[in-house]
Amino acid sequence: MFTGHLMLMRVLTLAALISLSASLLANTAVPGGIYVWAIPQGATTLTYADQPVMKVAEHALIGLPITLAPGPQSLVYQQNGRTLRHHFEVFDKTYSEQHITLENKAMVNPPAETLARIRNESTRQRRLYESFSPPVDLRGGFEQPLTGVITSLFGHRRFFNGQARNPHSGLDIAADSGTTIHAAGNGSITLSDDLYFNGKTLFIDHGQGLVTMYCHMSELLVKSGETVNKGQAIGLVGATGRATGPHLHWSVSLNGTRVDPALFMQVLNTITSASGGE
Ligand SMILES: [Zn+2]
Repeated sequence: MFTGHLMLMRVLTLAALISLSASLLANTAVPGGIYVWAIPQGATTLTYADQPVMKVAEHALIGLPITLAPGPQSLVYQQNGRTLRHHFEVFDKTYSEQHITLENKAMVNPPAETLARIRNESTRQRRLYESFSPPVDLRGGFEQPLTGVITSLFGHRRFFNGQARNPHSGLDIAADSGTTIHAAGNGSITLSDDLYFNGKTLFIDHGQGLVTMYCHMSELLVKSGETVNKGQAIGLVGATGRATGPHLHWSVSLNGTRVDPALFMQVLNTITSASGGE
């Protein structure tokens, strides 16, 4: 009797938790956000825009490009030998403007002799973003890699010395030079190098098309090919590359698309904690 009562409590608590996570995740399908889908029983081979989709704790996570127009989207899956389509809605979101003055003109309009280097680095980074490697254990979720002052949010429409540039593709966290930066989650280092715009940079591949990037470091503490655990020290805060002061530029990329790191962390941590974190 008493045990039965406890069981009922457990069921109610789980139901409450699931409805809480459903409401937390209701408005994440925006340009630059994440569409979250509880995968129906028996559904396999999920794709979005012809690309494989990340699966965590029975949920599909899809990164939505910031340039995506609000409106209907769909993903494709297999169930009982049939190809089916699941439709969902992308809601509107307006990001604010940010004007930045850079003293170093070479970072606003790079000199001609650096253009080949910049192009090579951009190709190299795009390839890493577009990779889809085997799943990594992400049941512990993500943690913010640095505690500090948020100086620029994801999605800010940016102007460098009055010239329009692409929207801000990550989250900027300012802290004293030399402060330790930690891995957001488990994964492996796929890039550890000094890049023109991003300065001393690390890429962590978290499997299934989920990649995080850490830029402008003063020192890199890990090498390409190394495996890292969530919370592990990976580098030190600096101002290398295109930076106006010491800070970390942190990007989260899903299915080749840069998404809002704060929103992604909320989504992943909600899903992994609602699943019981086994
Ligand atoms: Zn940034």
